[in-house]
Amino acid sequence: MRPPLSIKGVQGDLKEKKYNCTELVNFYLGQAKKLNPTLNAFTTICEDFAFEKTKILNEIIQTNPKAFEEFPLMGVVLSLKDLFSTKGIRTTAGSEVLSDYIPPFSGTVVNKLEEAGAIIIGKTNCDAWGHGASGENSDFGPAKNPWDTSRVPGGSSSGSAVSVSAQMCMASMGTDTGGSIRQPAGFCNLVGLKPTYGAVSRYGVIAMASSLDTVGHLTRFAEDSEIIFNVIKGKDGKDGTIKDQYKENKALNIGIPKEYYGLGIDREIVELINAAKSKVKGVKFVEVSLPHTRYAIPTYYIIQPAEVSSNLARYDGVRYGKSRKAFGDEAVRRIMLGTYVLSGGYYDAYYLKAMKIRSKIINDFDRAFEKVDALLTPVSPTPAFKLGEKNEPLEMYMADALTAPASLAGLPAMSLPVGFSGKGLPVGMQLIGPRFSENVLFDLGKRYQEATDWHLQTPNL
Ligand code: GLN
Repeated sequence: MRPPLSIKGVQGDLKEKKYNCTELVNFYLGQAKKLNPTLNAFTTICEDFAFEKTKILNEIIQTNPKAFEEFPLMGVVLSLKDLFSTKGIRTTAGSEVLSDYIPPFSGTVVNKLEEAGAIIIGKTNCDAWGHGASGENSDFGPAKNPWDTSRVPGGSSSGSAVSVSAQMCMASMGTDTGGSIRQPAGFCNLVGLKPTYGAVSRYGVIAMASSLDTVGHLTRFAEDSEIIFNVIKGKDGKDGTIKDQYKENKALNIGIPKEYYGLGIDREIVELINAAKSKVKGVKFVEVSLPHTRYAIPTYYIIQPAEVSSNLARYDGVRYGKSRKAFGDEAVRRIMLGTYVLSGGYYDAYYLKAMKIRSKIINDFDRAFEKVDALLTPVSPTPAFKLGEKNEPLEMYMADALTAPASLAGLPAMSLPVGFSGKGLPVGMQLIGPRFSENVLFDLGKRYQEATDWHLQTPNL
């Protein structure tokens, strides 16, 4: 048995009793166990936990005729980036510091997913603390790209992307601070949603940079992304940034920001995106300019380490976790940089200046959204790169050049499969919308996927 790729497809089969939730989980666990030794997608597989849940769900399906309406994620087999606190299940943040930490609670999103009928089968590998764009900063070894195992799957939600791409689960929860959902989705032929800052509660998610962190997910379909988003969004009383002010509009004009198509962007990627433009009917493309785009990386790499230095201070080895000596090189680099830019005498020159440029980047977007309803850009300058290829931190940081701007502005953004490079590597495009315009992105994504079948391609494993 090989279940269909979409949530509705699987739920249709469950309704028709082609198989039950236990058999479904057996399939995904089989894939996970067979492929994890090569792909290293999971840090922890929680088999017993998953089977406990399937017993409950099988019973509900048998006895409740409204099971699928009352439980919108009924039977959805999920993995969670190992930054999500899970009660009784090890949560490592990809770091040796927390390698044997078992949280006493689950956060809001995990609880919402579970209550909606999802089945969690494991925790996924990631760059330690979410610091990275390749998965190679994980203390548990890098995850491998299922499309070419000599390449990175992207990061920091590396294992999340691999687990969905290799059909070890149906969808995966990730976090995106500067690109960590969108970029691995792009490298692995998936849909990656980074919601609006303040749309989804981060309570119970290990914090990286609090003015940038968002919780989102990786799926194969824009429709599945919408189904999950509708379950996880909204106030919980525990994350003070959460608002609920969605727009119900459709996109008519789409902006092409010229700065995103310039030097350093693979021509193949630009060509694939140009070809994609004709696939969505009824929209017009207009050139726009976001002049401060090139300052996004220097700005992001001041603000983000500053916030990292503050958030990671709680891992002092006193209450839980190992000693600070267990921090890896990248975390140490960011703590030092962050402490430096916040220190007396340097604060104005670095942190304050970065905050001012952040405002300019936000203004660029606001001005563009006076003219257009969404923006279309590449996700990354190149397709997946080789493991070990980017060994200079600055080279790695440049991988976020096209995803960091929307993060700095708190905007929702979604990556979607747009075809394959000459080497057979997946390529993604990015849609960026105004705050709380997720509905526009889902609408465009669904219409695009109805007209294309890139997202139905799966790696040969
Ligand atoms: N690659 C970026 C960084 O290393 C983004 C990480 C993220 O979004 N968590 O900071």
